[in-house]
Amino acid sequence: MQLLDGKALSQKIKLQIKEDVAKRAASGGIIPHLCAILVGNDPASETYVRNKILSCEEIGYKSTMFRYDTSITEEELLAKIEEINNDESIHGLLVQLPLPKHIDVSKVVEKVDYRKDVDGFHPMNIGRMAKNMPCALPATPYGILKILEEYKIETKGKNCVVVGRSQIVGSPISILMSRPGYPGNATVTVCHSHTKDLASFTREADIIIAAVGVPELIKENMVKEGAVIIDVGMNRIEDATRKSGFRLVGDVAFDEVKDKCSFITPVPGGVGPMTIACLLLNTLQAAS
Ligand code: NDP
Repeated sequence: MQLLDGKALSQKIKLQIKEDVAKRAASGGIIPHLCAILVGNDPASETYVRNKILSCEEIGYKSTMFRYDTSITEEELLAKIEEINNDESIHGLLVQLPLPKHIDVSKVVEKVDYRKDVDGFHPMNIGRMAKNMPCALPATPYGILKILEEYKIETKGKNCVVVGRSQIVGSPISILMSRPGYPGNATVTVCHSHTKDLASFTREADIIIAAVGVPELIKENMVKEGAVIIDVGMNRIEDATRKSGFRLVGDVAFDEVKDKCSFITPVPGGVGPMTIACLLLNTLQAAS
C-alpha cells in the first residue's frame, strides 16, 4: 500500500502559489485577497476558517474575516455579501457552512458573485463543471482530482464507487470522475443512505471515494484487493488520551484496510489539506 500524502502535496502547491504571489508583488501585480464570513462559534467551523486565513498569510495573500453572532438576520448577511461582491479589492469570498437554521443556505450560496465563489458552490459553477467548462471547482473534489493526478492513478474505465451524494463532495466528485478527460472517464456509481447492500457495490470498486461522515463505515470486507481509497471523512471521536479529548478518523477503517488496498489517503493528512490548497488555487484564479 502507498499513502496518498495530501499534506505533502498541499505544501508543494502552496509553495508554488507563494512563488507566484512573490513575483506578482515584485512586479506590482494583483495580490489575491480572500474574504471569509463566519457566523456563530461552532468549534469545527472556527478551526476550518482559522486554517484558511492562516494559509493565506503563509503564502502572501491578503485575507479578511468577518465574524457574526448567530443573531445576524438573513437580510443582513445577504447585504454584507452584496457589499463584498461590489468590492473590487476582494477577489474570493467564502461563507463558512453550516449556517444557523433561520438562514437559507441556498440564498446565501447564490448571492455570492460566482466569479468570487472560491468554494465552487454557486449553481453557475456547478453547471459549468457539469458541462466541462472552465469554472471554480468545489475545493474538496478539486483536491481529490489533484491527488489522483499527482500519483498518476489510472481512472479511465475504472469502476469508481462514491459513497455519499452531498452537494459539496459526493455529488460533484461523481460528476468529475465521469467527465471525459483525466482524471475522469470512470464508470461511476453513487451510493447513499438508501443504498441496499452497500458492500456489494464497494467490493466491485477499483476506486472508492468515501464522503459519508460515519466513522470507519468502510471495513476490510467491503474493499477489493488493490483498490484505491480516497477517504474524505473527518469525524471527531472521543479519545481521553488526547489533550483535545478527541481524535479524527475517516469514513474508512484505515488499519483494517491499509494492507488490502493499493493506495489510500490517511485521515488526517489526506484530503483535508488539499481542500485548503485548492481553495487557494481558486482564489488565485479569481484574482487572475
Ligand atoms: P453530508 O452529511 O452532507 O452527506 C453525507 C452523505 O452520506 C449523504 O449523501 C448520505 O446519504 C450518505 N450516507 C449517510 N450514511 C450513509 C450510510 N450508512 N451508507 C451510505 N451512505 C450514507 O456530508 P459531507 O459530504 O458534507 O461530508 C462527508 C464527510 O466528509 C464528513 O465526515 C465531513 O466532515 C467530511 N468532509 C471533509 C472535507 C475535507 O476537506 N476533508 C470537506 C467536506 C466534508 P443521503 O443523501 O441519503 O442522506
